Amino acid sequence: MIQGIGAAAGVAFGKAFVLPHWELDLPDTEIDAVDLAKEFERLYEGIRTSKNEIEYIKNEFKEMVGDEESHIFDAHLAILEDPVFMNEIQGLIERQYKAAEVAVKEAIDHFVSMFDLLDDEYMKERAIDIKDVGNRLLKHLLGAPEVTLPSDTQPYILVARELSPSQLAHLNPSHVLGIVTMSGGMTSHSAIMARAIGIPLVSGIESRLDKPIQTGEFLIVDGDHGHLYINPEEHVLERYISIHAEQRKKKEQLQLLSSVDAVTKDGSYFHLAANMNSLKELDMALNNGANGVGLFRTEFLYMDRAAFPTENEQFEVYRQVTEKAKGSSVVIRTLDIGGDKQLDYFSLPEEENPVLGYRAIRICLDQTELLQTQLTAILRASIYGDVKVMYPMISSVDEVRQANEILKRAMADLDSRGISYNPDIKVGIMIEVPAAVTIADLLADEVDFFSIGTNDLVQYVLAVDRMNEQIAHMYQPFHPAVLRMLRTTVEAAKQAEIPVSVCGELAGDERAIPLWLELGVQNLSMSPLSLLKVKHRILNTDAEEARQEAAACFKLRRSNEIEDRLTRFIKQNQL
Ligand code: PEP
Ligand code: MG
Repeated sequence: MIQGIGAAAGVAFGKAFVLPHWELDLPDTEIDAVDLAKEFERLYEGIRTSKNEIEYIKNEFKEMVGDEESHIFDAHLAILEDPVFMNEIQGLIERQYKAAEVAVKEAIDHFVSMFDLLDDEYMKERAIDIKDVGNRLLKHLLGAPEVTLPSDTQPYILVARELSPSQLAHLNPSHVLGIVTMSGGMTSHSAIMARAIGIPLVSGIESRLDKPIQTGEFLIVDGDHGHLYINPEEHVLERYISIHAEQRKKKEQLQLLSSVDAVTKDGSYFHLAANMNSLKELDMALNNGANGVGLFRTEFLYMDRAAFPTENEQFEVYRQVTEKAKGSSVVIRTLDIGGDKQLDYFSLPEEENPVLGYRAIRICLDQTELLQTQLTAILRASIYGDVKVMYPMISSVDEVRQANEILKRAMADLDSRGISYNPDIKVGIMIEVPAAVTIADLLADEVDFFSIGTNDLVQYVLAVDRMNEQIAHMYQPFHPAVLRMLRTTVEAAKQAEIPVSVCGELAGDERAIPLWLELGVQNLSMSPLSLLKVKHRILNTDAEEARQEAAACFKLRRSNEIEDRLTRFIKQNQL
């Protein structure tokens, strides 16, 4: 067995198809000065053809998986328009008399090695994008053929050195059972795309192979654990055949629950909504029976672009989501950037402690026009369904009041433009900073609802950076301090008679169901992928029994004891 990175979940097995590695054959002579104009014309023609091709692939991919992932190709188009990249190529032709293909190859190598030197996974992945675009351009300049994947054979496991987004966009999930790549990690665009199409992917195995994989060899790809088997023994294959069948059966069984209410055996009802990081996830969420959107992370609207989205652009997206939700509520969270979420066009200051720094509502209350534009767009969408606004990272009453002042300004602006909106729009806050928990009673008087963001709350309560692998074992959502914070928040909400929901990752963790029953939390919002799993557990839970378990957990002193006890309890109701 070879241990790689499980970059997209699921298991697959079949014969390997190894994508041939295309070797470049570049001219080694200089061009004549008189041919400069001709060389530039070749270059521009190559760029035009490449652009048309990328546009075409982008549209194809959009049809397959939706808008969000197809934006990856906008980044590719942008590379072909990037003045630094293009100046480098033009300079090599003009000043060093290099042939267009040589200039392109040298420019790619230069930028790729520069990005590779940076100790930053994201930039390393972007180097793959430059290679992908550059190679496309090179192919046109050299007239080399595009490598096409077989479509008339049995479905296969695709093996590639690295798989570019363009290549992935061409994949037909009914031909490609699984993917293995030599390089690449979890954050590569290819991994994001493989997850979106639902093809299991194991990557990063290059250094673990004794010899290259050959077309026709039998492979098992286990994207859940990052395992790869080459020509496995019979008993291993048998095991995977049954895992595969089991996974399929579970998926089909769970899908049957999409239109069923989430009610415990003894009648306790849960309202399960979806967290949304992209438009594509909305369809998956609705397919999985989500009751609306409990957390619309609007950051993606601001990313992968050159400037802030306009009011109209935002309005269009908010309206679309609201209409698709068909009357179920859509909780739109205002911009939550800073910390690990950065925007290319908005330079945030270098900070010693970014997660304790200039982020989320703090930025929005400093750059108020940003918040006002977003709130105006949200208000305009509010007449199309049940839209709610939510402010992130609130730590004081003042912040809520200031944000609401801006909301009023947005309303006044719409009044003056004669545009309608819901003047009674519900306004809530994320409870994700310990200060907000301790003054939850005061905050409850200011807002219409709470939503507990356990991801940040755990980080801040325990003083454990949620991004730091070295202390990942200390990031304990079942820590007694976290449980107490949950209780304080829920009690304050009950006292003020406002609804409270949970939208951090803990909401999608089946083991936490007894805690919600004991606390009296009925609203959960989670990743669309978790919805059916959690619903299944709820349907198999006896609320009274679960409450007793949770009550016992609230008396325990150590995270591990709590986690173990809840894990044991939930295992009794195994699917
Ligand atoms: C949270 O902090 O729990 C949350 C839901 O928000 P995010 O993960 O976007 O910070
Ligand atoms: Mg948060």
